[in-house]
Amino acid sequence: MAKRIEAHYPELVTSKMGKEHRTGKVFIDWSQNDEHKTTVCAYSLRATPKPYVAAPVSWDEVDSAVQHNQEDALRFTPEQVLDRLSGRGDLLAPVLTRRQRLPGMSPREIEPVRVWNNSDDTASDADIAGSLVEYRGKRRFEATPEPAGTGGNQDKWRSSFVVQKHSAGRLHYDLRLECDGVLKSWAVPRGPSFDPGQKRLAVRTEDHPLAYAEFEGRIPEDQYGGGEVIVWDRGTYSPAGSPDPDEASVSKALKEGKLEVTLQGVKLQGDFVLVRTGLDRQEKEQWLLIKKKDAVASSRVDPLQTEPYSVLSGLWIEDLV
Ligand code: MN
Repeated sequence: MAKRIEAHYPELVTSKMGKEHRTGKVFIDWSQNDEHKTTVCAYSLRATPKPYVAAPVSWDEVDSAVQHNQEDALRFTPEQVLDRLSGRGDLLAPVLTRRQRLPGMSPREIEPVRVWNNSDDTASDADIAGSLVEYRGKRRFEATPEPAGTGGNQDKWRSSFVVQKHSAGRLHYDLRLECDGVLKSWAVPRGPSFDPGQKRLAVRTEDHPLAYAEFEGRIPEDQYGGGEVIVWDRGTYSPAGSPDPDEASVSKALKEGKLEVTLQGVKLQGDFVLVRTGLDRQEKEQWLLIKKKDAVASSRVDPLQTEPYSVLSGLWIEDLV
């Protein structure tokens, strides 16, 4: 059967065990059909003389079988499994909806991917205060847990980028890049993509204070941007496509409407380009965020789906509701 499926779908399926044959394909492991091997998917018939069904059981059933030394209580014929399903429902159903946390998702320290010439680019308090006038004007800091609009530790946050998942009205992702002592910001409704074919709209929003890079929490519904925020990704960026970039060149690229960056985050990696395309009806700058073709570009990788949790706390945005 494995060979016949392989013959029909040679691009998708292989029946050969060797790892070199399996890349990008589904391996149909016919060798599991052996009297010593009974590993199968739930609700499959096991390859035993009497074909029992692999069925999920509760811990109570396991305890009871152990106590009474009744191994057979955990073996089910096809008819018994159908009875169990109609009587107790599908014990595996929660697997489809329960939020999972996978190993290896804990926060990591991130080293800059490329040292670039910005260690002396310290913005003045006056310039920072000027950049944050709009941020401060939109918020009431006695009512929102967001950081107040003052400067922050420029050495700590130099070359940082952050992507916050923000469940406000409509869910979106806020991309922020440290430049001139503040976080230059864009709201990306569909979030970043690893697929160079996906151009993601990025609407420029007001500069945010550096401390915002580690803000997570719940903004009250009646406040500006009301809703939950998590730090979905964080790391460092460096300007790409320029032999000797400094912070002034980033500033200039943003004014001119085209910035290429290399991101070194926990989830986002590699080269991206931000291009300004015009103004929307509210006179907000519209940009596109596009993955450039590089070693990590892929139409299959989608950390928005596979890694929805915070890189700081491991929290899902739903945990804050
Ligand atoms: Mn937002």
